[in-house]
Amino acid sequence: MLKNKTALITGASRGIGEAIAIEFAKNNADIIINYYNDSGEAQKVVDKAKKYGVKCIAVKADVGNFDEVKQMAETIQKNFGKIDILINNAGITKDKTLKNMTLDEWNAVINTNLNGIFYVTKAMFPLISDGGRIINISSIVGQYGNFGQCNYAAAKAGIIGFTKSLAKELGKRKITVNAIAPGFVKTDITKNIPFFKKKIINYMTPLKEEAEPIDIANVVVFLASEKARYITGTVINVDGGLTI
Ligand code: NAP
Repeated sequence: MLKNKTALITGASRGIGEAIAIEFAKNNADIIINYYNDSGEAQKVVDKAKKYGVKCIAVKADVGNFDEVKQMAETIQKNFGKIDILINNAGITKDKTLKNMTLDEWNAVINTNLNGIFYVTKAMFPLISDGGRIINISSIVGQYGNFGQCNYAAAKAGIIGFTKSLAKELGKRKITVNAIAPGFVKTDITKNIPFFKKKIINYMTPLKEEAEPIDIANVVVFLASEKARYITGTVINVDGGLTI
């Protein structure tokens, strides 16, 4: 579905980003794997993707550092010349109640999860082709809030406003801009949620289980494809029905 397309996926060394990268490779897209800390894991994803015969490189850059992001844009320009699909996926959590949250914990999450989306989209903008796709990974927490996640919820809600505004700006170039709001997905971010809390979440979820990363990746592939050409400015919840 994505032949001759080039995709940048931020935070693609593991979790949801890795699943998106592998599904994109299966669909013949060339891929840039962005990561921050773990070059070994990023290289493993590159090796897996290349098995599908696509061009794939890993680029280290902190999405919350505009200078590093601009350098990543230069590397992409040199190696690929364009981006057709941008997936803003990189994200972190630093959970505390407001009473206990430090300024550093607030700023780190806002900087990576929200400023990062602005920095990456701004720096990649000259490379994004007409008819392109921008897909931002938000969260149901940005829609409904969550105890102990004021910083994360604010960033993820901000992503939804960013998505809708940019969709209005870029429609005339046939670039679609959408967000996905996952519920609970089995990745490193959720691995420390206590067992009893996971049990309660699964009980409240109509589909009675957490998502696998591929459940999110499948929706990203659809939004990135020609089949989704008339969808823009929307948020698709992939949450097993938890928010209905
Ligand atoms: P994850 O398994 O912890 O993976 C996070 C990825 O982001 C890693 O590849 C990590 O790379 C990268 N990353 C972190 N900080 C970065 C930075 N400053 N610059 C560049 N890359 C950075 O998380 P995940 O669960 O897959 O989450 C992916 C996205 O989905 C996040 O935006 C998250 O908020 C969102 N989401 C997740 C869930 C869930 O239940 N898992 C639910 C809703 C939304 P390194 O390892 O190299 O640092």
